[in-house]
Amino acid sequence: VAKDQGKRTYRVFSPDMNKKVAEYMWLDTNLPRALEDNQLTLHYQPKLCLASGAVLGVEALLRWNSPERGLVSPLDFIPYAEESGMIGPLGRWVMQTAAAQARRWSEHGLDIRVAINVSARQLADTAIVHDLAGALETAGLHPCLLDLELTESCLIEDEDMARGLITQFRTMGAQVHLDDFGTGYSSLSQIARIPLDMIKLDRSFVRGINTNAKSQALVRSMVAVAQALNFAVIAEGVETAAEEEFLRKIGIDHVQGFHYAKPMTADAFEAWMAEKEKLRLIA
Ligand code: C2E
Ligand code: MG
Ligand code: MG
Ligand code: MG
Repeated sequence: VAKDQGKRTYRVFSPDMNKKVAEYMWLDTNLPRALEDNQLTLHYQPKLCLASGAVLGVEALLRWNSPERGLVSPLDFIPYAEESGMIGPLGRWVMQTAAAQARRWSEHGLDIRVAINVSARQLADTAIVHDLAGALETAGLHPCLLDLELTESCLIEDEDMARGLITQFRTMGAQVHLDDFGTGYSSLSQIARIPLDMIKLDRSFVRGINTNAKSQALVRSMVAVAQALNFAVIAEGVETAAEEEFLRKIGIDHVQGFHYAKPMTADAFEAWMAEKEKLRLIA
């Protein structure tokens, strides 16, 4: 492409590409180190039942505490991890850590489902079933306490393979949830062919839902489709009481978002649960 601009402006990389290359080189050295030096951690964000307020489970969200950069968002390193193949070891670490945490909670009488995010690249490797079974067994966790959040991109690359893997996960006892629903390129007929437990409405549809008539119509029809297919529905990114009110009106089952709690460390989550229980007893 650069060549088309003529001899005088011949460039191999644009400045933007140079920046991306430099960033990938930095990650190439530092991400493997992060894994070895225990710089990775999981934060947990509660998912609640809208009708009862009960906590159904948590979503485990990856965080990187970099000595050089501080807290790095998964959005800044997951794409690289997917392209480079680092998502393999990273994903296994997430499975093992989340399973161990759920087991510790269950030993302390807190039977809480833990959801982990799985990217398309991880599903392309069929060893994932084996890895997952290994993580559960090592932790001593019953698979029915584990949820897997897959995005639509997991379904479109190789639908038959995705359906096969999802069936295996569900046979093991784990639940499979479709993350960021509405943002990908999967078709409704495709989703109807996949055995899912829950659809997770992307937060871009939830933002301002109480005031935007177009979003309301969209969300209403998405919920209707999901319910017609017998999938439970959770809304992510709920930030206000007004958004919650609208979601309640249209019959959404579950909610997650800053309005209830931000992602927190395991310790902070336990304290949050204890506080919630205290308030419940007083009421
Ligand atoms: P996601 O799976 O859709 O996770 C939800 C994201 O929305 C999280 O961002 C969460 O902190 C944020 N969020 C939750 N409630 C609210 C809210 O009310 N308002 C706003 N503005 N944001 C909210 P986070 O933790 O930065 O994660 C971003 C994405 O990175 C995740 O999106 C997921 O796709 C990916 N990711 C995170 N952890 C992992 C992991 O362990 N493995 C893989 N493969 N991907 C991960
Ligand atoms: Mg997710
Ligand atoms: Mg999501
Ligand atoms: Mg999302």
